[in-house]
Amino acid sequence: MSGWWPLSEQPFKNPRNAAAGSLRQKDSKITATRGLDIFVFNIQQIQGAELSGHKESLDFLKELGFPISPRYEIFDNIEEVKQRIQAIGESRGNLSYDIDGAVVKVDNLTQREVLGATSKFPRWAVAYKYPPEEKVTVLRSVEVKVGRTGALTPTAVFDPITLAGTTVTRAVLHNQDYIDQKKIAIGDEIIVRKAGDIIPEVVEVARHLGNEPYRLPDTCPSCGAHAVREAGEAVLRCPNAECPAQLLRNLTHYASRDAMDIEGLGPAVVELLVVNGLVHSPADLYLKTVEEIQPLERMGKRSAENLIAAIGASKERDLSNFIFALGIRGIGQRGAQLLAQRFGHMDALLAATPQEIASIDGFGEIMAQSAYDFFAEKGNRHLIGKLREAGVNMKCTSQPTGSALTGMTFVLTGTLPTLGRSEASKMIEAAGGKTSSSVSKKTSYVVAGEEAGSKLTKAQSLGIPVIDEAGLLRLLEG
Ligand SMILES: [Zn+2]
Repeated sequence: MSGWWPLSEQPFKNPRNAAAGSLRQKDSKITATRGLDIFVFNIQQIQGAELSGHKESLDFLKELGFPISPRYEIFDNIEEVKQRIQAIGESRGNLSYDIDGAVVKVDNLTQREVLGATSKFPRWAVAYKYPPEEKVTVLRSVEVKVGRTGALTPTAVFDPITLAGTTVTRAVLHNQDYIDQKKIAIGDEIIVRKAGDIIPEVVEVARHLGNEPYRLPDTCPSCGAHAVREAGEAVLRCPNAECPAQLLRNLTHYASRDAMDIEGLGPAVVELLVVNGLVHSPADLYLKTVEEIQPLERMGKRSAENLIAAIGASKERDLSNFIFALGIRGIGQRGAQLLAQRFGHMDALLAATPQEIASIDGFGEIMAQSAYDFFAEKGNRHLIGKLREAGVNMKCTSQPTGSALTGMTFVLTGTLPTLGRSEASKMIEAAGGKTSSSVSKKTSYVVAGEEAGSKLTKAQSLGIPVIDEAGLLRLLEG
């Protein structure tokens, strides 16, 4: 992967991102310049011909002119399979493409059907993963950057090595504990590896030069604030909410495709806005005018107009995009979507208890606490208020009909006035919710009728909200 991406763009992190990123280009001419190639390895459906084996289907694909892997062979005993796996592993470096494993499949398609599949994997195929490639190099320096959440992240900078087909000169060092554990010092010979699409990492020190392990600075390299380490955390953080490095990253994340998707607001433009003092928070974006932005370097009237229009359009994004855009620690796109669907509106989310958040199916306690802490923080509430004033959408619109109860788990207890137990369960499930027979911290609501027993007591002791039939019907109506 070198030489063919536009100079203004960062190289892709790995081949998978390169392929996916190229395929989703709106302009197929760009895709065509990316030099993608493919090995077709399976026929999903076929009409007008009968195939009885995998090899036969590959030969057939080849006959039709599809590119297929030149390296497939049929064996009738496992010993030869093992030898072949080893041989492929040994010749890995000589291939013109990267591999991370070899796949062993049953050839006979009838036997495949007999073997079937588990809920996740077919029983007739198994992948052998080769260990990641490792190389020795010399650690020259350590760079410290401030992340979006203020985390000070050290990066090892070393003499170039080639790993899995790419030149690598840097690897993440995570935090001080990681550096201390491995006793990593500048000048040491270190072993670096890159597993699949994972960022390169320092495995261990191959030879110590005798220097003291590297120490992270006590102050933020961007703003000079005293860095703090919170109890129970391995990471050092810059606590300054106005730290320019954090602001740059926060804004870039806010504008990114999966967040508020503001076209034209990439890292370079964000930097221009911040450096020129035009924007101090995402809310400021919505107050900008064409006249203010136009004089900026490389901007011009047309781009300024487009940018203001794109910023305006982002007000309509769904609540899930907005939550993701806020950059809450530990809350990715999926987490943001679950929060948006569970609460439906920012107001409900702002009023949510940690327990209500933790009851979302797919949410762990740490995620729930992180979300709760974020929305409890005064500065964040203030920012959300300003964005609301600016006209940013606070409602979840992505909720498909019939999913008013998505992510919620209900426990029914006692006799409800009009609904039978199974009728109520069916209504909950039809609305995307789940029912369970026992009360736990994961329960969203206990629906209690007459003569409710121990489940009601348990709900009360755990602080789970208890509602009656009328309350359930209100929820179902959304
Ligand atoms: Zn800082």
